[in-house]
Amino acid sequence: MKTIVVTGAAGFIASHLTERLLDEGNSIIGIDNLITGNIKNIKHLFANKNFKFIQHDISKPIYFNETIEQIYHLASPASPIDYLEYPIQTLKVGAMGTHIALGIAKKHKAAFLISSTSEVYGDPLVHPQKEDYWGNVNPIGPRGVYDEAKRYAEAITEAYRKYHKLETHIARIFNTYGPRMRPYDGRVVPAFIMQSLTNKSLSVFGNGSQTRSFCYVSDLVEGLFRLMNSNDSGPINLGNPHEMTILEFAQLIIKLTESKSDISYQKLPEDDPKVRQPDITKAKNILKWEPHIFVEEGLKLTIEFFRRNYL
Ligand code: UDP
Repeated sequence: MKTIVVTGAAGFIASHLTERLLDEGNSIIGIDNLITGNIKNIKHLFANKNFKFIQHDISKPIYFNETIEQIYHLASPASPIDYLEYPIQTLKVGAMGTHIALGIAKKHKAAFLISSTSEVYGDPLVHPQKEDYWGNVNPIGPRGVYDEAKRYAEAITEAYRKYHKLETHIARIFNTYGPRMRPYDGRVVPAFIMQSLTNKSLSVFGNGSQTRSFCYVSDLVEGLFRLMNSNDSGPINLGNPHEMTILEFAQLIIKLTESKSDISYQKLPEDDPKVRQPDITKAKNILKWEPHIFVEEGLKLTIEFFRRNYL
């Protein structure tokens, strides 16, 4: 049994991770300032005596009496709409939040994992993306606050590893989906599912030829867990290499929801990456990890979640 801090614990991915770590018998301290996280995602865990929740902004210092053995730093606004609404907080949690989380790790000699992102590759000129690609990022574009915060987070994590000899792990997470996404966070999965379920037109941005590769949340959580418990500092891509165009994705969701929706083409947002697909050779070799949930299967579970909670 380990004592583990999870930042962003009330968020989509971190709430699933917290659940998984509790199932393994660990003691978890969840931290979240709840600006984009939702307490409902973790309220069923409050009955577990091994779970403690602290409402706190990890961009500000916090001290623990317990000895912490691992820190998963997942806190961050994570959808384009969120980081347009909270640009400064997005930068702060990636920069100051990561610095503080690393400081906690250093003091407690804890292992540290940061959830970085495929956004460090920007609008990639290399396809699929491998970890040794440095990216094509616009620092002052609408996504810059997120991309650059995560790039800084990777840099400071490496500096702590090299200079303070900390055990650190960098995960680069690609598009992930599943239950507990927010219905109106602007991301394509909840947007298309909600539109389909209510027979509204699906808002395909551009001509829908841009690609994404979607990973189901339980697969992603398994990857994070394996990376934390490995000897590899990363960065390691975690994602599902199954690549689709956004138009194909819209059609698949219409089919799976048996919806009468049609498609309405809308303006492509500025700096929207044209392609995105992880090369997961490194994760396969080092972590013996690869995703197992097919997109139809994961989408059915996700559609069910939205049907149950938001219709
Ligand atoms: N997208 C879309 N319609 C929407 C929301 C998103 O066509 O209502 C597109 C968006 O332009 C992007 C892709 O879907 O090409 C994935 O968008 P999301 O915001 O989910 O993630 P990201 O762009 O960060 O991969």
